[in-house]
Amino acid sequence: MSESQDFVSRRTMLKTAGATLGAAAFARALAPVAEVVEELGAEEFLQKHYREMTPAELEVVLRRIEADALENYGAEVHVRDVRPREGVQFGYALNLSVCIGCRRCADACHRENNHDRRTNQSYIRVLEMQQGSFDMEHGDATYDHAVPQPGKYYMPVQCQQCDNPPCVDVCPVEATWKERDGIVVVDYDWCIGCRYCEAACPYHARRFNWEAPEIPAEEVNPDQAYLSNRIRPQGVMEKCTFCLHRTREGRLPACLEACPTGARVFGNLLDPSSEIRWVLANKRVFVLKEELGTRPRFFYFFDE
Ligand code: SF4
Ligand code: SF4
Repeated sequence: MSESQDFVSRRTMLKTAGATLGAAAFARALAPVAEVVEELGAEEFLQKHYREMTPAELEVVLRRIEADALENYGAEVHVRDVRPREGVQFGYALNLSVCIGCRRCADACHRENNHDRRTNQSYIRVLEMQQGSFDMEHGDATYDHAVPQPGKYYMPVQCQQCDNPPCVDVCPVEATWKERDGIVVVDYDWCIGCRYCEAACPYHARRFNWEAPEIPAEEVNPDQAYLSNRIRPQGVMEKCTFCLHRTREGRLPACLEACPTGARVFGNLLDPSSEIRWVLANKRVFVLKEELGTRPRFFYFFDE
């Protein structure tokens, strides 16, 4: 497809979305687009969807993103395209009996995923919960005292990588989707910033970039992937990707490595000898808001 044809198809898609959404909703959706187009070069705006790019086209995009990081952040980074592996479906489990609410997981996410330093952004919120309550909507995410507190327990919440993800269903431009290994991703260059997915997520797991992230050059994590921790532009949505730039290459998520108590268990649900499978077979696991039918791949349990 030529650049001009591609431009037309992208515009047509936006127009179709307008017809589907209704005038008022589409006007709101389009407002950020105008800003994005103004800020982006034509090359970036005309870029194809991740899933439509040939390897050669993607290679050009990856090098452009690296050049942008050098120009805008003074950081030499390497941006890779890391694909799912056959025979892998990722799952995560968290032992609430041993989590102490220290937030080291959230801090590790902040650094690993090149989050904005001003807002101390992270994909993980650690909720301080009343013993006996399981309602995450009543957890306190902003506690500021020594932990753990008597009568409380701590529930870290991040993207649950739903098998039936409502965030994907509502995206008007298919900028977000579920990959073969179960990880829900966003093509940050295709997102139009309408924030429908943020509203649809029952776990408050999506984050919007109100401003371009601010990160000192020496703090930028240079090990990046297109679908995960590359520095996201202003005006787009982002979310936890189970650190796919690490986990698809056999490493563990940064949040798990940072946990001082061993509360976190991650692995391949299809591997019968994995620790995550052992947890599912031997612990009484539960998922958050099960009644919604989102089928999370993130499980919680207590030691009996
Ligand atoms: S937790 Fe939210 S962002 Fe993550 S897959 Fe489910 S609905 Fe989407
Ligand atoms: S990913 Fe979310 S914010 Fe981006 S276009 Fe899709 S629904 Fe809108």
